[in-house]
Amino acid sequence: MGYDIERFVGPVNEGLLCCICRDVLQDPLQAPCEHAFCKTCIEGWLVNEVTCPEDRQILSSSRLKPLFRYMKNDLDRLQIYCTFKARGCPHISKLEFLPKHESECPYATVSCPNERCSVLVSRRDLEKHLNTCEFQKRECSKGCGIMISSADERKHNCIAELRTMMDSLRSEFAGKMAEQKREMELRLNMQRGHMVQKEAAMQGKLDEMKSESSKLSQKVKLLMDSETQRRQDMEKLEIEKKELIELLRGHRSSSVDRSRLPRPGTSKRFHKALQSKVTEI
Ligand SMILES: [Zn+2]
Ligand SMILES: [Zn+2]
Ligand SMILES: [Zn+2]
Ligand SMILES: [Zn+2]
Ligand SMILES: [Zn+2]
Repeated sequence: MGYDIERFVGPVNEGLLCCICRDVLQDPLQAPCEHAFCKTCIEGWLVNEVTCPEDRQILSSSRLKPLFRYMKNDLDRLQIYCTFKARGCPHISKLEFLPKHESECPYATVSCPNERCSVLVSRRDLEKHLNTCEFQKRECSKGCGIMISSADERKHNCIAELRTMMDSLRSEFAGKMAEQKREMELRLNMQRGHMVQKEAAMQGKLDEMKSESSKLSQKVKLLMDSETQRRQDMEKLEIEKKELIELLRGHRSSSVDRSRLPRPGTSKRFHKALQSKVTEI
């Protein structure tokens, strides 16, 4: 259904009227034949029909398009009275801003927000109603601090209410504690797992280091053995050197005594041996 033409200030172009309800277009849609309709009007029509109500051309809802932009602009600019004019609202707005105004119009009807209250009042009277609404919650007049409505005040018992409240708080607390305990246990188990892994890794490293160190001490032992061997060799060589020197001295002093000389071949061999000994030393 469109807007009643009587609600508009000034004349409305014929082209902005719905072809079905003859009111001013509301949520307009256009057929390929360029006839325009309110969304609800044409959707209702197409439930039983398959043609445009104006010229009987074939029509289906999938072929409906938004209104031409220039027509939509003309429609949006129309000046309209508030829906609640009859209740006293004097507001006039452009059609495009009407929904916004009506959502905050002081003359619009609203329902009381209190649960169980079914009263409908003008938005501007809501506060007055809430002051007297029997379902409006206020702090208990006997001083327990609980919020209750005057409708519930007669059957309200401060001590019983407080006890129920405490019970529910206690069970809520117990639930939270149990949850925290579960969480802590979970975390501890995870940490324990990590520790075990770390310990295993450290043990591995320790074993590695032990084998490294035993290898090193073996090497040291080998080195020390070879050092001892070298020293022994040196001592042996020193003795041989001394013997050779002795031998040489003896050889020189008896060089006149030809009979004590070794044969020529022997002398050559002796010299060679002496030379190699000296280089060795
Ligand atoms: Zn219509
Ligand atoms: Zn048509
Ligand atoms: Zn209004
Ligand atoms: Zn109320
Ligand atoms: Zn109370």
